[in-house]
Amino acid sequence: MALNFSCHAAVLNTHLRCKLDATLNKSLEKVRDLLIKNKVPSITTFPQKSLQKGNWVKLICGASFEDVVDIRNLSLVYTLAGVDCIDCAADEAVVNAVNEGINVAMTILPLRRPWVMISVNDDEDLHFRKAEFDPDDCPKDCTRPCEKICPANAIFKAGVINERCYGCGRCFPVCPYDKIKAMNYVRDASETSKLLERDDVDAIEIHTNGRQTDSFKELWSGLGDSVNHLRLVAVSLPYNGDSTVSMMNKMYSILERDLCCLNLWQLDGRPMSGDIGRGATRECIAFALRLVSSKDKPTGFLQLAGGTNAHTRSMLSNSNALIGGIAYGGYARKIVGRILSCMESEGGLAHIESYPDLLLMAVMEALNLVGGVKSYTHTL
Ligand code: SF4
Ligand code: SF4
Repeated sequence: MALNFSCHAAVLNTHLRCKLDATLNKSLEKVRDLLIKNKVPSITTFPQKSLQKGNWVKLICGASFEDVVDIRNLSLVYTLAGVDCIDCAADEAVVNAVNEGINVAMTILPLRRPWVMISVNDDEDLHFRKAEFDPDDCPKDCTRPCEKICPANAIFKAGVINERCYGCGRCFPVCPYDKIKAMNYVRDASETSKLLERDDVDAIEIHTNGRQTDSFKELWSGLGDSVNHLRLVAVSLPYNGDSTVSMMNKMYSILERDLCCLNLWQLDGRPMSGDIGRGATRECIAFALRLVSSKDKPTGFLQLAGGTNAHTRSMLSNSNALIGGIAYGGYARKIVGRILSCMESEGGLAHIESYPDLLLMAVMEALNLVGGVKSYTHTL
């Protein structure tokens, strides 16, 4: 009798699983239909072609953001939306999460694979720091403004969730008791080299302050032959007034000797601020305009970042600046992140494709952003 019952239960389980799979497949069909209606597969070109056409789009997961569950799902959603590149922390688990997201996306619709880029720094840099405080040190009656202002939901009663903090710095000035400290770090060149030798890593981005080249040179030579595996080398720098172009030329002369792939300059207007609003994008547009009009700038594509959001494309079109494309970070994570936060956690492995209605909503958000650059037809 017990055997008979377990047979029935097994048949019932298989039946339910088939029914669930059918529902899931039907819902994923809607995602596929949306992408095909928007002509994503036909408009999505190979990444190097996008740079040449000026419609390259990069998703920035964050040089210090290391929440692998969110990173996997963000990579999945933005691969479906047709981004050319996904930029992430130079960390093995993070790189694995990005590639898992890409691979799952490609089972839903066989789009071309975006490049995977890892971000490193040559010296102290805003993107490579974590906030830290001891919650036991905080006055009991504190209204916790740090928690309210954090765009990454990285602050809880127990302090800062290290992997979610991406170093934006907004919590530092709001603490009335000055309890929050910034912990800076520099990525290790030999660990970075190992990642660059992987088949599923295509590009590197070197963040530099652009005011000196000694540490830049040291990092570049420390990467050794691993740079021969790359398709793209990006250098991310802020605007440093009149010295910007001459420093870019110095850096290019350091790179040039071993450069056997494309190169790109990421113009970091107002770092990690795209989610703040329209005003944040002005600085990166101003940076682009200065560079575009410079006759002495070195070889390489130009790409905007730092303050990019839904307003960047139209403000850029009005300016007629010739650039290779746009990278979206905080804003891209925010619009999809609020949908990801609706998912119930499945034992720490929350896969967005298991919630196809949410996946559809997330892809629609991502398409609105990426489509502005790629000129998708916006048939939702
Ligand atoms: S506000 Fe910014 S720096 Fe502070 S914990 Fe959140 S992500 Fe980190
Ligand atoms: S604002 Fe400062 S004192 Fe208050 S909880 Fe945050 S870190 Fe602690």
